[in-house]
Amino acid sequence: MKTYRKELWFNVAARRAFINITPQIEDCIVESGIKEGLVLVNAMHITASVFINDDESGLHHDYDIWLEKLAPHEPVSQYRHNVGEDNADAHMKRQIMGREVVVALTEGRLDFGTWERIFYGEFDGRRRKRVLVKIIGE
Ligand code: ZN
Repeated sequence: MKTYRKELWFNVAARRAFINITPQIEDCIVESGIKEGLVLVNAMHITASVFINDDESGLHHDYDIWLEKLAPHEPVSQYRHNVGEDNADAHMKRQIMGREVVVALTEGRLDFGTWERIFYGEFDGRRRKRVLVKIIGE
């Protein structure tokens, strides 16, 4: 069995953003030389997510509104976590949107369902953060 590991770095200028990272994951697959197996992609920070859904800007806007209703950023004083920081909402948004995805790798390609794409969800940006890509297989 072959293994491959890579860290992708992001530095999002805004506090929150959704980024389609499918092309970077496809580059990792090519670099790995692995054709059949599993691809794991996870955020390496507790205020960011990796998730799968549609690459449709209206949906991303809707996610942002929905997440702000569930865990509003302001007022930051409403959260006990925010003693010396202001990102309690980002921890909660990360919890809802998830830590990682696993996708089957078939004939050298991500074996997606219809319209599926992989996204990095940033909830406390403006600093460098990592995503881990691990591929195992043959
Ligand atoms: Zn925190």
